[in-house]
Amino acid sequence: MPMALDLRNCKSCGRAYQYDGNNYCTRCRKDSEEAYTKVKEYLYDNPGASVGEVSEATEVEEKLILKFLREGRLEIRDEHNFFLDCERCGVAIKSGRFCDKCTHEMANEFRSAVAPQKKEEPKKSEDSKKSQRMYVNVKRDK
Ligand SMILES: [Zn+2]
Ligand SMILES: [Zn+2]
Repeated sequence: MPMALDLRNCKSCGRAYQYDGNNYCTRCRKDSEEAYTKVKEYLYDNPGASVGEVSEATEVEEKLILKFLREGRLEIRDEHNFFLDCERCGVAIKSGRFCDKCTHEMANEFRSAVAPQKKEEPKKSEDSKKSQRMYVNVKRDK
């Protein structure tokens, strides 16, 4: 297969670049790596710094710092230093997008949402109605 030239626009700066499985152009990736190193080193020397402080000291955008945290690339060691909120329940978390509880619950929800789909052939009409309703209103309290 001939290599097709797959040009895409960088998600960060919008410039076109040769797509290689990454959503950002090489320049932005390099910038991001440098920013990441700066932030990491600053946090290493100043554990417990807030995002604002880190941003000011390293001149890295807060948005980018939060992105590193969301991606789980930065880990906050200080137990009292929570930068993020769980996107689902809003509880304070140290990295990623969801708290442990929600991660767990969502895994369960996913399973319960997928399972009823397998019962495609209804034997009794009442049963199929029931399973249909259950599929639509997936309950998460359990
Ligand atoms: Zn870029
Ligand atoms: Zn949560």
